[in-house]
Amino acid sequence: MKESIKENINEILSKLENTEAKLIAVTKTHPLEKLQILYDLGFKTFGENRVQELAEKQEKLPKDIEWHLIGTLQKNKVKYIAPFVSMIHSVESFSLLKEINKRAAQNERIIDCLLQMHIAEEDTKFGLDEKELYEILENEELKSFENIKLVGLMGMATFTENENQVRSEFKKLKTLFDKIKSNYNTENIDFKELSMGMSGDYPIAIEEGTTLVRVGSAIFGSR
Ligand SMILES: *Cc1c(COP(=O)(O)O)cnc(C)c1O
Repeated sequence: MKESIKENINEILSKLENTEAKLIAVTKTHPLEKLQILYDLGFKTFGENRVQELAEKQEKLPKDIEWHLIGTLQKNKVKYIAPFVSMIHSVESFSLLKEINKRAAQNERIIDCLLQMHIAEEDTKFGLDEKELYEILENEELKSFENIKLVGLMGMATFTENENQVRSEFKKLKTLFDKIKSNYNTENIDFKELSMGMSGDYPIAIEEGTTLVRVGSAIFGSR
């Protein structure tokens, strides 16, 4: 197991070399031993999609791991991750942002957040449309949120064999990202991260200018 994890991660890291993109190892459903293997290889940036699992793993593993929440977050659970989470990729409402700001303030922290956009064809996937995105960016109250930073966008492409479709969804998200990056610059809006690309499509995402790829099964095998 250890050898295959090492091989897989080295292969992914080699594809990221000389690109803008950094790897987030998606560790959801995998036991602590596997996370420890990555840690021992010197790799310390992990993503989980459930708050409870994230909080439990954080408590048991070394404290210099950088934890990313990539799955849906309910307001009443923000308090469990606010003390340590390094980035939340899945912000989908202004009220959630407000709660993150409040809990970050209680912990005397500033939490980096990404707004999750709906880019896929499937309507089962979560995320904001453009109108909702601009409503958040232009909300007057946002300026008073001193304990969050909006650092970019996240999106999940349609689950399909059709590479052209995936590519065009990523292109659209990158275009939107660039537009906001050049038009919105405030104390707490500072776009620099674009989170797109998973095991099945991260090579395309890299070509389309992603900065964060979220890869699970290509490292650990299928769940
Ligand atoms: C599970 C998950 C991933 C990783 O998926 P793989 O196909 O295993 O690489 C990426 N992003 C999100 C939001 C996920 O829930």
